[in-house]
Amino acid sequence: MKYYLGIDLGGTNTKIGILDENGTIVAKGSVPTHIQEGPEAACQRIAGGVDEVLKQAGLTRADIAKAGLASAGPMDIPGRTLRETANLGEKWKYCPIADMMSEACGIYLEFANDASAAAFAEYWVGKGKDAKKHTVNQQGVVTLDKPITSMVLLTLGTGIGCGIIINKMVYDGEHSQGGEYGHALIDTTPNARICGCGRPGHYEAYGSATAVISRTKEIIDSGVKTSLAARRADLDEIGAKVVAEEAQNGDEVAMQIILDTAKYLAIGIVTLMHTIDPDAIYLGGAMTFGGNESELGRTFIKAIRDEIKVRALPTCSATTIVDFAALGGDAGFIGAAGIAKAME
Ligand SMILES: [Zn+2]
Repeated sequence: MKYYLGIDLGGTNTKIGILDENGTIVAKGSVPTHIQEGPEAACQRIAGGVDEVLKQAGLTRADIAKAGLASAGPMDIPGRTLRETANLGEKWKYCPIADMMSEACGIYLEFANDASAAAFAEYWVGKGKDAKKHTVNQQGVVTLDKPITSMVLLTLGTGIGCGIIINKMVYDGEHSQGGEYGHALIDTTPNARICGCGRPGHYEAYGSATAVISRTKEIIDSGVKTSLAARRADLDEIGAKVVAEEAQNGDEVAMQIILDTAKYLAIGIVTLMHTIDPDAIYLGGAMTFGGNESELGRTFIKAIRDEIKVRALPTCSATTIVDFAALGGDAGFIGAAGIAKAME
């Protein structure tokens, strides 16, 4: 059995895991990143975490066939450096993080975007693992017998993360910006909402959890009668989950906010379908309204699919799987290890 190490560098915590060649987690751990101390101190702390996880697995560095590091962008993947990082701070700007971390950990780490890593994990061991490709013959008959080879994972949270798999491998683009789909333009009108990046009309200014919170506050402040009004302060504490709770309690305004979010998300998905034509588009992250396990989650994904049917070419909507993702917070390190394995 071969073993693979994955590290998912996060703004708050860094997750570390060891997987076997089937993608099963053998051991895992987490260390605080303490970004304010800068990358050198963080690399040392994370290297200590790698030691712990190796010990937990009963393995040594020599047992690791390949290892990978995932980080949030913007980044230069071939150059193995970060760029002007939004969530790690000044000290991390342009730092050669992949080489620094490799040296600290005593093991060469492949470098990946965290959204791409999460997508690869979903493809390797998550929802993509047993998913079947829609193959259409000349008579228009659809068969589902081959495994999928391409997919997109949209991660709905503070922003909208995007990881793209084409031909069984991550696609990062020519300048490591291939997954910046959160900044795709979906509204060109003069009053378009402003994105976290400062530009108007971007996808995540409409479909992210941050956008849901902003829109909810605007609706509350407009004086509309809704049970959300009593929970305005909770929006900053708990986030978009508040909207889900009130919708489940029967508040129609809250439900409409969720259905509007589904429409916005569908608009971006339709463009992805017509650009990449992937086998599947999966939705993951913190804002999935309970996923397939809850009635609200099923209402949400149905609203997305219905809007896609209205807006997409029929062949696209008929052949692209649109569903919730399967993996949670471990997807980053699983994918970092998986990408490294795929580069053997
Ligand atoms: Zn933007």
